[in-house]
Amino acid sequence: MSTPHTPAPALDFDPDALRERYRAERDRRIRPDGNRQYRRTTGEFGHFDEDPYAESGFSREPLHDHVDVVVVGGGFGGLLTGARLRQAGLENVRIIEKGADFGGTWYWNRYPGIHCDIESYVYMPLLEELGYVPKWKYAPGEEIRQHA
Ligand SMILES: Cc1cc2nc3c(=O)[nH]c(=O)nc-3n(C[C@H](O)[C@H](O)[C@H](O)COP(=O)(O)OP(=O)(O)OC[C@H]3O[C@@H](n4cnc5c(N)ncnc54)[C@H](O)[C@@H]3O)c2cc1C
Repeated sequence: MSTPHTPAPALDFDPDALRERYRAERDRRIRPDGNRQYRRTTGEFGHFDEDPYAESGFSREPLHDHVDVVVVGGGFGGLLTGARLRQAGLENVRIIEKGADFGGTWYWNRYPGIHCDIESYVYMPLLEELGYVPKWKYAPGEEIRQHA
């Protein structure tokens, strides 16, 4: 850290050039057809929108109570949001997930051999809070799903 008396060390890269490089790479990937580039999960692709892990015919009773915060989606984003809201003192939080359980990406994707490609210690959320030590450097999807 620098103070008024100690000048910051010189960088060995140009931050503006680096930012420009990232921007150029991003722009290269933005397609003019936007969301139209994606196929809808209807017709022959309709089965991709079904939950193969839910009990057939599964449904839930509607809830009519009031909560302070509704989080849509029970993947890592929703789970972390819920955890941080609890830490901030909000108890009345509901996560709404269209799948039959939590995990998001790791709920839906269970093909053989799936592992994370970021080290588990960095990728898996709330390890310290839950006292969990990943078993693998790059955890299998099932370990990640169970953790969620
Ligand atoms: C196969 C695969 C492997 C990946 N591996 C890695 C990896 O190794 N490292 C890495 O950093 N990232 C990886 N990713 C990226 C991964 O998606 C993110 O790391 C992270 O899990 C995304 O979490 P999320 O909560 O933002 O989204 P998601 O995990 O997609 O969760 C969103 C959830 O919201 C639910 N939902 C959406 N709309 C609604 C609605 N209207 N009502 C109710 N529920 C809704 C969905 O069902 C889903 O469960 C991978 C992604 C895929 C697909």
